[in-house]
Amino acid sequence: MVAEMGDSPATTEASAVNTQCPYCGVGCGLTMLPPAAPNQATRRGVDGLPIWGVKGDRGHPSSLGQVCIKGATVGETLDRSRLLEPLYRPTLDQPFQPISWEKALDLIAGQIQNSLARQRSDSIALYGSGQFHTEDYYVAQKLIKGAIGSNNFDANSRLCMSSAVAGYARSLGSDGPPCCYDDLDHCDLAFLIGTNTAACHPVLFQRLVKRRKKNPRQLKIVVVDPRATATSDAADLHLAIQPGTDLALLYGLAHLLLARRTIDHEFIDEATDGFPAFAAVLKEWTPTKVAAICGVSEDKLRRVAELWGGAGAALSLWSMGVNQSVEGTATVAGLINLHLLTGQIGRPGAGPFSLTGQPNAMGGREAGGLAHLLPGYRNVNDAGHRDEVERAWDLAPGSIAPRPGLAAWQQLEAMERGEIDLWWVAATNPLVSMPNLERVKAAMALCPLIVLSEAYAGTETAHYAHLLLPAAQWSEKQGTMTNSERRVTFCPAFRRPPGKARPDWEIFAAVGRRLGFEHQFTYTSAAEVYAEHAQLSAGRLCDVSGLSHELLASHGPQQWPAPKGSAPTTEAKRLYTDLLFPTANGRARFCADLPLGLGEPISEGYPLVLTVGRYLGQWHTMTRTAQVPRLVAMHPEPLLEMHPVDALDLGLADGALARITSRRSSITARLSISDRIRAGTVFLPMHWGFRQELACEANALMHELACPISGQPELKAAAVRVEAAAAVILPIERRA
Ligand code: SF4
Repeated sequence: MVAEMGDSPATTEASAVNTQCPYCGVGCGLTMLPPAAPNQATRRGVDGLPIWGVKGDRGHPSSLGQVCIKGATVGETLDRSRLLEPLYRPTLDQPFQPISWEKALDLIAGQIQNSLARQRSDSIALYGSGQFHTEDYYVAQKLIKGAIGSNNFDANSRLCMSSAVAGYARSLGSDGPPCCYDDLDHCDLAFLIGTNTAACHPVLFQRLVKRRKKNPRQLKIVVVDPRATATSDAADLHLAIQPGTDLALLYGLAHLLLARRTIDHEFIDEATDGFPAFAAVLKEWTPTKVAAICGVSEDKLRRVAELWGGAGAALSLWSMGVNQSVEGTATVAGLINLHLLTGQIGRPGAGPFSLTGQPNAMGGREAGGLAHLLPGYRNVNDAGHRDEVERAWDLAPGSIAPRPGLAAWQQLEAMERGEIDLWWVAATNPLVSMPNLERVKAAMALCPLIVLSEAYAGTETAHYAHLLLPAAQWSEKQGTMTNSERRVTFCPAFRRPPGKARPDWEIFAAVGRRLGFEHQFTYTSAAEVYAEHAQLSAGRLCDVSGLSHELLASHGPQQWPAPKGSAPTTEAKRLYTDLLFPTANGRARFCADLPLGLGEPISEGYPLVLTVGRYLGQWHTMTRTAQVPRLVAMHPEPLLEMHPVDALDLGLADGALARITSRRSSITARLSISDRIRAGTVFLPMHWGFRQELACEANALMHELACPISGQPELKAAAVRVEAAAAVILPIERRA
């Protein structure tokens, strides 16, 4: 039997244990080594606290023993700065006081009952996270969408991958990346767009680079990014395009493929719809026009088209640089169009492959963890899907609302209008990761009850919450996570939660029982939750009905589809190898959206485009990585990167303090002058929030305009001006 937290003390705390890394969506296998191994001195951090050691799990098929600096140091993050007990304050100007779990859960259930009694089910909203285990996600859906009858569950994946979700569904008929990491070993062309893979998905990047080093003739790498990065340093061709011109670039490439007759007519005829309309649109996207729009040479454009047209297998990889855009879904479709045009999908080394930001955003999608979804890649606006889920959950017909709930930013807008009675945030830190942070703070200040379930104490979001619930994090609760290649890994509980921390799924289930849904939330283990989730996935594209905690623990990580009766395997699985797509007629679709550019173009008052990104040694809002001295030392301060021409124009010197101002806010950062960024574009990392010593709330500057299809805000670009700063501008929270 698999050990379960709660009834047996999580693994032994004395033996090594295999699990998945809780940082990025690569989902590497880690072997965690206990602080006190037999006959060895206890491993301790710089502060003397015992720490878990980490090495790569050689048996994990996704990472084959590799691990990056973040994964290698995760053992140091487990005990520092933890939230240990529930804390409550009725208003934001009062200090927090300890409160029992019973009272905390009663408070939440009482508020929900009160809202339901006033026919305000839509005034309850839950904002979750790709840090959840699939079991946490699943029980949260059952609580919000089933028991409460609101679809207001959304997750920080909305800010990260929702354009990929919508793009796959629109072009291929369903969400679900068709590729696997094995494709990195088989492609002739790796086309990386909107992804600094070297910093954000390092283990995958190293796999690609190692292969290219061994045989440079076998693999060409093309990188599209306005900045030169460690990723573009390894490229054969780097296209430093103007921000917001990705879709135009993809149309330019498609135009050239068509003109060069390097398209796959047989594939187009047999497996796609919409080609004539797409081909008609492409006529006007000539190389001359596209090169001018994108700010790259026509020659480079032609060389990329030549590489793609001549590739036996072309793999495209992307992440937030594509998704976080007002035309994110259209750009994903633009990329998939290239694959459909050339038949580059459904075989080794070929296909469109989104690199997921978070460790279990994929599992969240499978469990229905966005406001328009239900478990098993079902949709709330499909009556048949609602009926299937209501039956599985033993709920009365009509219990699930027939329209999508509020997406992340819509939840904030509803709060501004006074329409949210309870905003429950779990395992995420929106007061660093959302756009337009001052507006977020103002909206939160209007909400009568903000609950934050969090593993760590004192995050930025905690400053605006009324009730803090200590959450058991990865390592302290049993569960599963799915990585970017659809591989599900069993993550055991290998240490006890500190203080009074509890797993998120247990907290959601306890509230469900208090609302009167006793038998819907009787789970006694995460394994039971997973079994129910797996059963509900049967027959769907993301079928995991053949998986269980027990099977994953004994046979190791498995990719889906894994229907009941399928044999466990480490063989790579790809989708659509039969060229049948999950659309009504089995054919993939060309989409032809008009490229529109940035949501907030530059203007006289705001003449520069600010783009944001990530550092190799930091993760999201630094809740975990700020606990690791080595990682903090790697990137001691957030730097504003600016091209020498712009710096000269503005009279700014390298190392000077600069004030960056958008239509929403002003912040300060030290200047780093570099010709590795396009003139006219500046860059900031997004990790720093107001509680960090060097406060630099980059996302305070960003706007909330979003892709109209996916609802994903354009967090990658905003118009700003930069000037010399005499002193650091402190965030509101830290002003005297
Ligand atoms: S590449 Fe991602 S999943 Fe792998 S060790 Fe690094 S942070 Fe963890």
